[in-house]
Amino acid sequence: MKKPIISALLFLFVLSQLASASMSEHIVSYKIKVKLLPEEKAVAGQEVLTWLNNSDQPVGELQFHLYLNAFKNNKTTFITEGGGEHRGYKLDKKNWGYIKIEKFAVQEVPDLTDAIEYIQPDDGNEYDQTVMRVKLPKPVLPQETVTLEIDFYSKLPKVFARSGFYSDFFMVGQWFPKIGVFWKGEWNCHQYHVNTEFFADYGVYEVEITVPEEYVVGATGKRIKETSNNDGTKTYIHYQEDVHDFAWTACPDFVEFREPFRMENPHVDTEMILLIHRMHLNHKERYLNALKNGIEFYSQSYGAYPYSTITLVDPAPKATGAGGMEYPTLFTGMTMWWLPKGIYMTEMVTIHEFGHNYWYGMVGSNEFEEAWLDEGINTYSEVKATAKYFGEDQSMLNCAGLKISDLVLQRAQVMGSSQLDPILKNSWEYYSIGSYGLNTYSKAGLMLLTLENYLGEDVMSKIMRTYFERWKFKHPTSEDFLAVAEEVSGQDLSWFFDQFLNSPDRLDYAIGRIKSEEVKEPKGIFDDQAQEQEMEKGKEEGDKEKIYRNEVNVLRKGELIFPQEILIRFKEGEEVMEKWDGRERWKRYVYYRPYKLESAQVDPEYRILLDMNFTNNSKLLKPKKLSVGKHALRLMFQFQNILSLFSF
Ligand SMILES: [Zn+2]
Repeated sequence: MKKPIISALLFLFVLSQLASASMSEHIVSYKIKVKLLPEEKAVAGQEVLTWLNNSDQPVGELQFHLYLNAFKNNKTTFITEGGGEHRGYKLDKKNWGYIKIEKFAVQEVPDLTDAIEYIQPDDGNEYDQTVMRVKLPKPVLPQETVTLEIDFYSKLPKVFARSGFYSDFFMVGQWFPKIGVFWKGEWNCHQYHVNTEFFADYGVYEVEITVPEEYVVGATGKRIKETSNNDGTKTYIHYQEDVHDFAWTACPDFVEFREPFRMENPHVDTEMILLIHRMHLNHKERYLNALKNGIEFYSQSYGAYPYSTITLVDPAPKATGAGGMEYPTLFTGMTMWWLPKGIYMTEMVTIHEFGHNYWYGMVGSNEFEEAWLDEGINTYSEVKATAKYFGEDQSMLNCAGLKISDLVLQRAQVMGSSQLDPILKNSWEYYSIGSYGLNTYSKAGLMLLTLENYLGEDVMSKIMRTYFERWKFKHPTSEDFLAVAEEVSGQDLSWFFDQFLNSPDRLDYAIGRIKSEEVKEPKGIFDDQAQEQEMEKGKEEGDKEKIYRNEVNVLRKGELIFPQEILIRFKEGEEVMEKWDGRERWKRYVYYRPYKLESAQVDPEYRILLDMNFTNNSKLLKPKKLSVGKHALRLMFQFQNILSLFSF
């Protein structure tokens, strides 16, 4: 009798260890068998999905994303919103993409395929079939699971909006029926829009991929099995826990490189897998070095990279529409064989997309509704990482004597802003694709860099670590970020986030009129003794012969408010630093001195990166060549002068 009890206890112990070892709550468990059909440019799959109802209410229907249906015809929401384009690439109208559900069954109920209904929760567009709903024969009770069997056929578009084929290159993303998130008491399952990315629950993926044997395959997670079949195909099984999506790629022209990455403090032990198209082999080291930079930077800044693999996919030439996209433990880069070394595009994209493993992958916010929590925080991280590895003033370009930093480029984006949208908004409700991009990426990145300059790098770094540690795998919202920022800094930051997250308005402070005028000997009748005394004092301290009235006016030209420092320099080397709460529309400072003022500068160190015009931040009494200090800042200033000639 004892033995079985011990075995049972041991079994329970192992189970509890397994449960406590997982980093996330496993809401979903996908087992998918999928076959690549290269001739048809399609994949055929069988999916067994177990879904846990972790809410406190019975759930009577399930909702699923069928993302590829966005490319099914020219009336879908995605195609209408983007005019058939995505990030400059056009959808090939000869190659529509779609997902066809061939069977949908729930446990004992053999077939519910006819119960499938397409719904359009965001815009009611009846042609859009990117969300389906299935009413269940009986509800799933709280803490119970339901297991579904779904057979599907996914026809891939010619590479467009992250996924598809180009010749024999396949990027298989958003390719399977994917359950929405039951969140805050209802289904959160938005349609696929031209501006939206994704939102999903964590769990376990085990995917069996069968391809013709000449294809090289990369996929989310660790390869646990590889078999040669006797029909000229091979099967690869990949497994990963604690992720919320699964993507894969296949191409006979990939060359695979595997290299371990290990570091201490924090402890990271992972395998870098580079699948590089043979046309780009000359950039192998650029990719690998940038990937190392990314793993090191994010691990040191936010927390150790925890997965056992990271796969970097280099899309085929002409398939760049699939480039620069993130999936858990796998992402796509971007390069061209001719790309000069000093243009750090490949490096920047690699670091950026790797970084998504943190904000998109592990933190897992709702990108449909609060995209900045991923793209904005990631842009902030990318600007810092590229500055660290490639130089502060040349982190994007250091070529033929020309240097441009990532920061300058981010500012250039925002300067062109039409100020029609705030940072925080449902992604599909922005005025335009451009407005979505500049707000959720660049402006949100600059907002966090401005916050960092305001609070100090140490405090900001603690905020970011705390936010990542506390909220990873938990779908935080903007309010959760704000709460961490306030808790760690010990400051009320609602004034900051209220303005910069929620208002489309502009921040711009400028030096207005400045002047120095000699004060004439008093003549006439004076009642104001204070002014007389001030003039006398000035006389005693300096040259007895001349006194100047120096006037500096600082202007708030934008609607938004930020506390300011103003540096006033005088001829004899005296410097005065004023602090202003920045609330009024203008502020005047007057100084009586035996010498003239030389210059005035608002935000003299250019710390307020959201200030949309640096060219008006300083004035010289007698204009001459301006010295702004740091190289990066001088460059930013000059670059902005050039940019101001163009209208964005
Ligand atoms: Zn991104």
